[in-house]
Amino acid sequence: MNCHQANELIHSYLDEDLTEHEQSELKQHLCQCVDCRTHFHGLRQVIVFLQSASHVYAPENFTEKVMAQLPKDTMLQVWKKRLHRHPLLVAASLFILLMAGSSYSLWADDKQFLLTTPGPEHLQINSDKNIVIVPVNQTVAGDIVIRNGDIKVEGTVEGNVVAIDGHIYLASTGHITGEKEEISQAVEWVWYNLKQTVMNLTY
Ligand SMILES: [Zn+2]
Repeated sequence: MNCHQANELIHSYLDEDLTEHEQSELKQHLCQCVDCRTHFHGLRQVIVFLQSASHVYAPENFTEKVMAQLPKDTMLQVWKKRLHRHPLLVAASLFILLMAGSSYSLWADDKQFLLTTPGPEHLQINSDKNIVIVPVNQTVAGDIVIRNGDIKVEGTVEGNVVAIDGHIYLASTGHITGEKEEISQAVEWVWYNLKQTVMNLTY
């Protein structure tokens, strides 16, 4: 197992989605790799911190109030499931979300093509067709987030690529060192942000 695979398993660990086999594989890697071990322990500290802090911060009827503000139907069902499976993480994420202000409603209103990248000069941007291309032999150092559009990676991205309501096409010459995530619903976006927030807290 390499560090990238280990990192994915650590993400799954955060979701409590590891099989026994994956757990033992991860354990094996953590014994050998200082970097991943440090990362892993950092995450566990955050979880312990959230556990100890949650009773201090969560106001009365917090969950119900938040649920009432979320969209109905399927999204609500998804949240309910998650809340049931990971009450602490979800409560903490909603708390962080509310603290961050109106990021959810901003997202809901925003249907236009949007691109966040550290190196736009390395990209071919076709905003008419809502498509962004990382050309062959070009390297973008950092994360690329695209909303309501597609991205085609023919070169290298040293970071994560996230497409919200869009697709990521990886050419045979393309390479993404971080994660590659397609997010199709606002609720997934929130969930992704939570993971990022928790991950960032560990550094
Ligand atoms: Zn490692």
